[in-house]
Amino acid sequence: MELVDTQVSEACGATRGSSSLPPSTTYKNDDFLVTPDLTEQFMLAALSLAEEARVLDEVPIGAVLVHEGRVIGKGHNLRETSGRTTAHAEIQALEDYNQRTKEWRLPAGTSLFVTIEPCMMCTGALLWARLDNLYFGAPDPKGAGLSLFTNLIQQGLFDHKLSEMQGGVLRESCSGLLSSYFKNKRSRRAAKP
Ligand SMILES: [Zn+2]
Repeated sequence: MELVDTQVSEACGATRGSSSLPPSTTYKNDDFLVTPDLTEQFMLAALSLAEEARVLDEVPIGAVLVHEGRVIGKGHNLRETSGRTTAHAEIQALEDYNQRTKEWRLPAGTSLFVTIEPCMMCTGALLWARLDNLYFGAPDPKGAGLSLFTNLIQQGLFDHKLSEMQGGVLRESCSGLLSSYFKNKRSRRAAKP
């Protein structure tokens, strides 16, 4: 299986400058699950993708799929640009992985880092892809997404459970990017004659 040749240090470069992680280091899944700093670094990579979406005047949401310390799929919201209802960041990241590997199933131990709580559609797609660990930034109480299904997922409603789930990773940065985008959008709309 061909993996995307992107180390976390490279993926985070746009946001944090040179990372303290040596570029040749590959981290085992267990290592980054218990290292908050590394969790934040992957979320910074997702935030950097969200920023790419903002530049395109898309709602700024980004996502990276990580396996054994390597980014194996990445994407950002592209709904307006593509005109596709399903072009959410998580779906884009899954499709990036699908296209590169020709595999529908994620490798065991894969983690997703996404800047906002996944919606209902993305939660379903991630479960079908057999995602193991999920980290999100801003909660989305109105998104009818992951938090609505968490209990059902973990009670075994689906034939796949998440091993690890954590919300609020770099919450302020993820929420701040979204709220400044919408604030800017509203003021531009108000300024129109
Ligand atoms: Zn979604």
